[in-house]
Amino acid sequence: MKIKYGSTFLGMILVAGLSGCGGSSSSTITTETSADTTSTDTTTVSTVVSTADATEGPNPNLFVSGALVEDATTEDCVLSGGTKTTCYRISVKGVPANHAVGPFCPPTITSTATEGGIWLDGSGETYDVDGNFIVNLPTLYSDASWQLYDPATGKVKITDTQVACEAAAQPNVAAEYQNYCVECSLDYVNGGISETVLIPKTPVPLATPATLNGNVGISLTGVTFALAAPVDAILSAYTIAAFDDCGGHVNPNVGYHYHAATGCTESAIQEDGHATLLGYAMDGYGIYANKNPTGNDDTDLDQCRGHTDAIRGFHYHAAPAGDNAFIGCFHGEQGTSASAAAAGAPPAGGVPPTGLPPQ
Ligand SMILES: [Zn+2]
Ligand SMILES: [Zn+2]
Repeated sequence: MKIKYGSTFLGMILVAGLSGCGGSSSSTITTETSADTTSTDTTTVSTVVSTADATEGPNPNLFVSGALVEDATTEDCVLSGGTKTTCYRISVKGVPANHAVGPFCPPTITSTATEGGIWLDGSGETYDVDGNFIVNLPTLYSDASWQLYDPATGKVKITDTQVACEAAAQPNVAAEYQNYCVECSLDYVNGGISETVLIPKTPVPLATPATLNGNVGISLTGVTFALAAPVDAILSAYTIAAFDDCGGHVNPNVGYHYHAATGCTESAIQEDGHATLLGYAMDGYGIYANKNPTGNDDTDLDQCRGHTDAIRGFHYHAAPAGDNAFIGCFHGEQGTSASAAAAGAPPAGGVPPTGLPPQ
């Protein structure tokens, strides 16, 4: 995987992480540059979260500058388990505040990894969607019917119009768009679709963890963490709904959303060296990076991919990108999501709406 960051972000200072606690807690702004041999500019800007600020539950001050439509507010709410409490109302822009969107599909069968994004099918593998990947699909999936490019020209068949995107970026792929690399432009969704969530200010644990449904959560970069991409449906239609190197892609229903944590959403570094904070699950618990900075996996994660420590309380660690998941289940009562309500879904925690999920 070759992560690229747009050069426009070079040197950008994100003023986030202002302490809401006053007194002795403080947050400093720092710039972290990661080495990458394949791209020109690789600067990300991160906030260091002091130990005092790294509490259990959401901290709206930690969102990346530009990630939110407006400042978070608080209001009364009812969680999925019936608990009446106070929630943060948080509206994310639906466009990543700290990285570019795309590329997704490579233009030709000789394209390099920098010209395309990634693919993940839940096997644990994360594939570069480059020209070789397109050519090797019949081998990868042991099915000679894969033909995602024009053999005469080497051009990859890409859904490059809004009509094609709308017909193909859904599990019921229209027949004429089988054997396509599927991508949609943010232009088709007016530059992005914002999402408003109510998540508990103080998370409320469940006696029994809940199955994931609706949104998994929201990132500090202003994007939703989606449920697993329906890769079986995508692959059975001989399509690749390519993700960009940040694990996101666009569909006409929800705009840009993430399906995997690839590192781009890591912005809130933990002062004590714990894995960085990526965002918050719908139950209000933090979702942290897969690995701690030392490269070590946590070995004590529960079925939801969560554990508890003295500083952060209960929190999740994102699954490896190739798993097509962020977390395993909800440890706490969920808040509510505007898009789920608009889609006719029952209140959070209820039965997911019938029909196929969007990609
Ligand atoms: Zn942890
Ligand atoms: Zn998707």
